[in-house]
Amino acid sequence: MPDSFQRSSSRPRSLLSSIYTLLLLGGLVTVLAVLAYDFLPERRLELDSQAFIYADNTNSVEFIDYEARRWRCMVHQSQDGSFCGMNLHLGSDAYEGVDLTQFHSIRLRLEYQGASPWLRYYFRNREPGFSTQADMQTHKFLQTHISTEFLNQELVIGLDEFYVAEWWLAAYQVPRELSRPDFSHVTAFGIDLSYPLVEGEHIGQLHSVELLGDWISKEQWYGGIIAIWLVALVVVGVGGLLVLRRDILRERKRSQRYRELSHHDQLTGLLNRHGITRAIEALFTRPDTALTLLMLDIDHFKSLNDLHGHHAGDQVLTQLGQLLPGRVRSSDSVGRWGGEEFIVLLPGTGQQGAVELADKLRSHIAQQAFAGLKPQAVTVSIGIAERAPHESYHELFKRADTALYRAKAQGRNQCVAADAIA
Ligand code: GH3
Ligand code: MG
Ligand code: MG
Repeated sequence: MPDSFQRSSSRPRSLLSSIYTLLLLGGLVTVLAVLAYDFLPERRLELDSQAFIYADNTNSVEFIDYEARRWRCMVHQSQDGSFCGMNLHLGSDAYEGVDLTQFHSIRLRLEYQGASPWLRYYFRNREPGFSTQADMQTHKFLQTHISTEFLNQELVIGLDEFYVAEWWLAAYQVPRELSRPDFSHVTAFGIDLSYPLVEGEHIGQLHSVELLGDWISKEQWYGGIIAIWLVALVVVGVGGLLVLRRDILRERKRSQRYRELSHHDQLTGLLNRHGITRAIEALFTRPDTALTLLMLDIDHFKSLNDLHGHHAGDQVLTQLGQLLPGRVRSSDSVGRWGGEEFIVLLPGTGQQGAVELADKLRSHIAQQAFAGLKPQAVTVSIGIAERAPHESYHELFKRADTALYRAKAQGRNQCVAADAIA
């Protein structure tokens, strides 16, 4: 099997197997990418700003160690509206606040000594267009209460555990659209005791506090994977189509080349027997046009081969193959019928014109120095037959052949028309 055939038939299989491999690899990478999400580095924001402490008039508060953020609340009595605690202001500008929407939780290391069963944790979020700079109380109050029993270890509170305090909604008659939790302009984070307070001493120390978040959300991560798949599929699809198109064009060119080869003689480049048959069949679909056929045979070619070698013989054939097309019209067809025999098809030419042309060809050939031989060393005999009405091309060939035989019999290097044969 020719190499080119093997290549073209194995192409779809290799293309398919590389697509399978790519799909398999892609699937594996996708699974790994999905699993990798949980191992991505966390987004962290440490809150290390200075602490403020506060208490209502009935109670007192003081720093035990300001640097260590350790403070003491002395609760003398608890009444509605009592409070005592500490907070951290966020952002360089206390009024502007910081955007914590990229975080999902807050992690604290808080030490507490006291009898309160729970502590209140809160954020304040400035509501643009609603909160005022003059009154910090207008900043939305997001709170959650957590039992102090969890404080012997690191405490992680989800930001979704914080809700807007009812007293804040009531105190400022907050419009409904602002009543949801929001962390886009957080101005403070605090920890305190709120009503009802437990009387006595309460000591707190905030060792560390940091916000935890993801650099990229799960939705974005999975969306990205899907987007990569879509792009890859489009690229593979378009690439596949381009490869297919290139293969089809290549195949078309190749088959055109084969078709040409199957119609042409390798030595002379002229039409071969198959090509000349196709040409004459085409001409026989137009029976109304005149058509004359020349059958041309080199004289004593066998002796020429014997005398000067097969190579010289080949050279003569090649040169004749170059000479003949140049001396007929472009609408005429020249072919090598086999061996040292040539056919010239002359559509639109009657016998008389054909005889004149044939004789010109014959004398021209006789004057040529083929293969370095002397003129007259190569001569041809030509049989001429014009298509008769209702004649098949087999019959036409036969008459031309008979005329050629007559030319040979009459001494060679001459032309004989079929009509001239008695
Ligand atoms: P005639 O004048 O009667 O045609 O005699 P001839 O010798 O030309 O005819 P014959 O049919 O006896 O011999 C034809 C020779 O052509 C025989 C063969 O070796 C030679 N021949 C056929 N094809 C080729 C070819 O491709 N190359 C060469 N060098 N010789 C060829
Ligand atoms: Mg011959
Ligand atoms: Mg012959």
